[in-house]
Amino acid sequence: MAPDRQVTLSARIPVAVLGATGSVGQRFVALLHGHPWFELTAVAASERSAGKRYRDAVRWMQSSPLPRAIADLEVVNAGTPSGVALVFSALDADVAGPIEETWARAGALVVSNAKSHRYDADVPLVVPEVNGDHLALVREQRYGRGAIITNPNCSTIGLTLALKPLADAFGLSRIHVVTLQAISGAGLPGVPSYEILDNVVPFISGEEEKIQRETRKILGRLDGNRVQDAEIVVSAQCNRVPVVDGHTECVSIELGRRASLEEVRDVLADFTAEPQALGLPSAPERPVHLHAAEAHPQPRLHRDLDRGMATSVGRLRPCEILDYKFVLLSHNTIRGAAGGALLAAELAIARGLLAEHPASSVVAAR
Ligand code: NAP
Repeated sequence: MAPDRQVTLSARIPVAVLGATGSVGQRFVALLHGHPWFELTAVAASERSAGKRYRDAVRWMQSSPLPRAIADLEVVNAGTPSGVALVFSALDADVAGPIEETWARAGALVVSNAKSHRYDADVPLVVPEVNGDHLALVREQRYGRGAIITNPNCSTIGLTLALKPLADAFGLSRIHVVTLQAISGAGLPGVPSYEILDNVVPFISGEEEKIQRETRKILGRLDGNRVQDAEIVVSAQCNRVPVVDGHTECVSIELGRRASLEEVRDVLADFTAEPQALGLPSAPERPVHLHAAEAHPQPRLHRDLDRGMATSVGRLRPCEILDYKFVLLSHNTIRGAAGGALLAAELAIARGLLAEHPASSVVAAR
């Protein structure tokens, strides 16, 4: 679909990545290479990495080559803010909270992948196609010019992209989801091979609680200065499986009102939202790709659809317990982490959240 409006900047905005050496941090570095709006000028990590050149501090695990200009950057300590206006955080959750606050207080717009601030009442938990309006919550924050916005848990992003059009069209009352999650979701150096090969691990610490809680906040309604969680019962069971990238989720849903299989299919297939209308650089052409083949979607075949930014939905059929069931697939370190955060930042800029930055102050609508 051709965008109906276009946002343009007068110059690229300098950005920093915190946690740049980790699994998600590396994805940021790869995705920021050649990004039309953002220029990566600072890479930050722990004291262990600070002072080294990025090429020496990182164990590069991406299939694209490490960009030469970034390889030579000196890694700085993530705990010491610089003057960068836009910061992407891929910090370990154990340390992210206070470090991100320090950057926000120094005036930066922080877009975080960590869980630390996701449930704060004044912090938006954003999936741009689902609840971009929640970005307005940053007005409640007390960081001066700076602010914190958060990217949800990787499984929740793919799930809410599929649920949003259904919630709008029919309402949703109950959701049961079983996840089959890739090993890249466990960060670096990753799950030991002896644990994951020839195996399925039926436990991921904290994951079920995150999916259950975050889904309700994201699908919730912005009511003045707070979000009213959606009144949906969500039950999640999470498993780690021997797949490198791409989380698969088997979902059963109960709708708020009756709908035919054709209606459900049409609503999913037709879904587009503000990022598509604005033609944001990281927006997928279609947030949901609906598959008709009986054995699709599959991680190896479909995780990179629409540059890894879309959710694939297949096997849509009636459910014997709830109303309908389907299988979805979403790329956990692209849409579920770095790519999702880039899109959230793009939407925040399009909505004027970085209005004081000289490059973003010139925004033209086509
Ligand atoms: P990771 O591979 O373990 O990387 C963690 C990063 O944090 C590294 O760059 C590390 O730097 C840095 N770090 C650790 N301790 C630090 C400290 N004391 N001070 C400053 N920096 C420190 O983890 P990840 O999988 O990329 O995940 C990053 C964040 O994103 C986590 O909060 C995670 O929950 C979230 N997330 C991950 C995924 C996913 O699919 N992997 C998806 C969504 C969200 P050093 O190399 O210097 O130690």
